[in-house]
Amino acid sequence: MPQGVSLVGAGPGDPDLLTVKALRCIQQAEWVVYDRLVSDDILSLIPADTPRDYVGKTPYGPFTPQSTICERLIVLAQRGYRVCRLKGGDPFVFGRGGEEQLELVQAGLPVEVVPGISAGFASGAAAGIPLTHRRVSQGVTLLAGNSAESLEHQWTALAALNHTLVFYMGVKQSQLIQQNLIAGGMSGATPVAVIERASLPTQRALKGALSGLGALVETHGVTTPALIIIGEVVDLAQIEFEALLSEINYGAVA
Ligand code: SAH
Repeated sequence: MPQGVSLVGAGPGDPDLLTVKALRCIQQAEWVVYDRLVSDDILSLIPADTPRDYVGKTPYGPFTPQSTICERLIVLAQRGYRVCRLKGGDPFVFGRGGEEQLELVQAGLPVEVVPGISAGFASGAAAGIPLTHRRVSQGVTLLAGNSAESLEHQWTALAALNHTLVFYMGVKQSQLIQQNLIAGGMSGATPVAVIERASLPTQRALKGALSGLGALVETHGVTTPALIIIGEVVDLAQIEFEALLSEINYGAVA
């Protein structure tokens, strides 16, 4: 008898940020299929005798092709296992959960989606940065930063939004994000924050200006996973940043 698959968001890493429903899925699953960004603390909540597959994708490194992941989920569900497909953050925010849902539905399998706390929201919370704030930012746009090169984004339109921009997967392309937004008309003085490993014990928060974003990432050796928040709301942050604009020589602010 085929079983369904739960596409479960594991949140940003801190197990306390799992939803009760996610925890229940993890504990009741008969097979867990998990990604690279699911933290060790969360993996330790899977009962020891539950079989599991790692299907992670290392950025710019080895990865499990998406088609292989989908095939695996389908095979497991068709064999009758109750499958928990565990993903970092929220499954439907840059998580390819939509693709997996489509394949599973096409295979005639029931799918349940359990939302998780996406890294953008967790990073705002971790750094005390409200992503929207009355009279400062009336909106927030979530963007993929890894495609900056391909100019898929409408940079001039983004610059004109005058609200908070949150870039996922943008560490490697931070210089390009900086250049494209400034070329699109955004002030180089716009505050930016880089939140590395939000919610994990090794979390770091850096702050600077858009004109120094690339330098900030480079100087501090920021590694993935990290998130970039751009906009005036960054100045409302209620934490001590590890690195501040004043510590770094950015050159001329555009
Ligand atoms: N579905 C996930 C995003 C997957 S894309 C979600 O909703 O959060 C992977 C990107 O998410 C990383 O490159 C990084 O930009 C961001 N990310 C994931 N976990 C993070 C964390 N703990 N701290 C900061 N950024 C994180």
